[in-house]
Amino acid sequence: MSLAIQCPHCSLATTDVWDVLDEDTVHEMTCQFCKKKFAMTFFECLSCVEDNVITAKTAQELSEKPRVCQKCGVPHREAGSDGEEADF
Ligand SMILES: [Zn+2]
Ligand SMILES: [Zn+2]
Repeated sequence: MSLAIQCPHCSLATTDVWDVLDEDTVHEMTCQFCKKKFAMTFFECLSCVEDNVITAKTAQELSEKPRVCQKCGVPHREAGSDGEEADF
């Protein structure tokens, strides 16, 4: 797979070896063009199996972004424990 990771600073896209990275995890990347750091995460839509990449300037900003599939609009449900539905 070769999805483009768009730098939030300069808006240039790089096709990194992102498919070796973990899904639903925030990764700190360095833009190969402007050399600035940014946060990136990606997820696979459970509905249409589209791969979605989200980038932000900081991990804090990234965590505040909605994780919605850019293709079908279905919100991504994280498998982790970060959610409003507590599972006891
Ligand atoms: Zn950049
Ligand atoms: Zn989708």
